[in-house]
Amino acid sequence: SHDSAKRRLTILGSTGSIGTNTLDVIERLGGRERFDVVAVTGNGNIPLLAEQAVKVRAELAVTANDSQYENLKAALAGTGIQVAAGKSGLIEAAERNADWVMAAIVGNAGLAPTLAAARRGADIALANKECLVSAGSLFIDAVKKGGGRLLPVDSEHNAIFQVLEEHQRHAVERIILTASGGPFRTKSLEEMRHVTADVARAHPNWSMGLKISIDSASMFNKALEMIEAKHLFALEPAQVEVIVHPQSVIHSMVGYTDGSVLAQLGCPDMRTAIGYALSYPSRCSLPIERLDFAKLSRLDFEAPDEVRFPAIRLARRAMVEGGVQGAVLNGAKETALDAFIAGRTGFLAMAEIVEKVMDKLADLPAAATMDDVFAADEKARHLAAGLLR
Ligand code: NAD
Ligand code: MG
Repeated sequence: SHDSAKRRLTILGSTGSIGTNTLDVIERLGGRERFDVVAVTGNGNIPLLAEQAVKVRAELAVTANDSQYENLKAALAGTGIQVAAGKSGLIEAAERNADWVMAAIVGNAGLAPTLAAARRGADIALANKECLVSAGSLFIDAVKKGGGRLLPVDSEHNAIFQVLEEHQRHAVERIILTASGGPFRTKSLEEMRHVTADVARAHPNWSMGLKISIDSASMFNKALEMIEAKHLFALEPAQVEVIVHPQSVIHSMVGYTDGSVLAQLGCPDMRTAIGYALSYPSRCSLPIERLDFAKLSRLDFEAPDEVRFPAIRLARRAMVEGGVQGAVLNGAKETALDAFIAGRTGFLAMAEIVEKVMDKLADLPAAATMDDVFAADEKARHLAAGLLR
């Protein structure tokens, strides 16, 4: 059934934290009455992916994991839902004619499929910050050339997007990204040295996937978000500020040349940002918990500590050096993070590895094409893996 009045949606990374929240928002905003889901994609969790595909009557379900192809096929036998696998399967999902694509694959693995959707002009709801960290202006250019909208879903960038009106862009002085400070905000370096992934994943305010939760503990998540913001809002490095705000009620702020600061506030629930990206330029109605200011009574702020959280300093360096340093920072970080999760390296070693790899690759030329971005990412991973041995 092809009803042209319905919007056609694809969710890349539907089985993750953002993906399941996206399907929840779609359901609440009218489900199959208003939307056709074209494709859903996952990785290892085949039962959930199959259940989602059946529930939303997707045309195509894709597992990123080639070895799970037969499992997914078996799980969807008799449903009429098409099945694909691997990197080519993800590209196929991205290239199907959805009007709106949620980019919620975690890590650099999300870059190629998101680019494919951007190039053919889909509106991109961008949760995957790695696209902008690694590919920067090349990614922005691909979206512009494709002709679709770039709708930030990362809560900070969504907040800025909400309060930054196009006609006032010239008057933006700075943006202020808020950071919860993570579970180790008040911990000493010594206390952080021996923490395990299980301890590091416990985020105080947000419920998120494993990797971004640990990145929040090391503040590499904020580091990625600084670079993401620079590209998204065409800022100079010095215009990107970070303030630790433990309650995560202010999701970020924009400071203007007249001294005004505009902020977006809300309870920490990603469905606000997802709903905004789906309904833009309108607003939708969502059952998010409402802020009770009397109950809150106070909001706290503190400067980030770049000695305990060197990721912030490394992000600033990557922004200033430019070129492919974003891809290098991210590639090295992903390799170090995987090793930390596997228990093969320490929590503090992650930033040390990233810094060493950035030192070694400081002279790489800026990327002229996406291939240069992928090559820089690959080099960074290789060097980081060498340092782990
Ligand atoms: P998650 O780990 O919960 O989900 C990741 C999704 O990607 C899953 O569907 C998984 O199956 C899929 N996936 C994993 N490895 C893959 C691979 N190699 N190839 C293809 N698909 C793969 O992660 P998440 O928390 O939902 O985060 C997704 C993205 O959104 C990340 O880039 C993250 O930084 C960003 N983000 C998340 C939140 C949040 O609240 N969770 C907030 C802001 C931004
Ligand atoms: Mg964020």
